[in-house]
Amino acid sequence: MEKYTLLPEQLLYEGTITEAAFFTAAPLSEEAILRTHTAGYWHKLKTNTLTRKEARAIGFPMRPELIARGRVIAQGTLDCARFAMSGDGVALNIAGGTHHSFADRGEGFCVFNDIAIAANELLHTGEISRALVVDLDVHQGNGTASIFAGEPRVFTLSFHGAKNYPNRKPPSDLDVGFPDGTGDDVYLRELYEVLPGVMDRVKPDLVFYLSGVDVLASDKLGRLSLSLDGCKERDRFVFQMCKDRNLPVAVSMGGGYSERLATIIEAHANTFRMAEQMRD
Ligand SMILES: [Zn+2]
Repeated sequence: MEKYTLLPEQLLYEGTITEAAFFTAAPLSEEAILRTHTAGYWHKLKTNTLTRKEARAIGFPMRPELIARGRVIAQGTLDCARFAMSGDGVALNIAGGTHHSFADRGEGFCVFNDIAIAANELLHTGEISRALVVDLDVHQGNGTASIFAGEPRVFTLSFHGAKNYPNRKPPSDLDVGFPDGTGDDVYLRELYEVLPGVMDRVKPDLVFYLSGVDVLASDKLGRLSLSLDGCKERDRFVFQMCKDRNLPVAVSMGGGYSERLATIIEAHANTFRMAEQMRD
């Protein structure tokens, strides 16, 4: 998708970030994959033996390049978490947010669940003892909710369109579903009310923020009606709440399907711009 090249170009061009701020991730290790995904699913991915039905659920024909790409993206989220915790405060993956991936299967264009993989790895190594997932992509984080259903050390919060995909929504620790057409006022009021309380209750060592911009009114799949400014305020508020509590935050981009590519880039760029303000 063009946004993955255009977004960094825009951020460099306007000076929000410098070339030196970029990092490239290595492919994720098999051990890390297997801490989240089942051996059976990983074997099918590796040997390209998903059934046609399983591949169709993911939504694109499986090719080795896509598996390799998914491994790099997931490692990117893990790297972001470590950068955020080692003093940067915030680090952003230019991709990621593949929250429709379950332990044993993928769907909705998601092969590996990058946030779940990163959280499980950091819990395993003892680098964190609690994590909070703030999933504000317009689609409910069904894979993440399912993976962490029995894991008290990871709190999953999902804001999403109530009538939107996925039809079946395994419960997150806290789900907030909005009716079609919900705009800035209602959405932001709910965010202001819910997020600080969750952060104070959960007391995480690390926040994963899934900043999908498919909440925009212009989005072809979103069904909500946030403005660009509303979406930017959403990002600002999340970062401010993290900053106020000294919480490191690792960001995954998630979806964005507005008619105009420029709108998608602008909304994702706003997330980086707001993150930069967090460093001030
Ligand atoms: Zn989405």
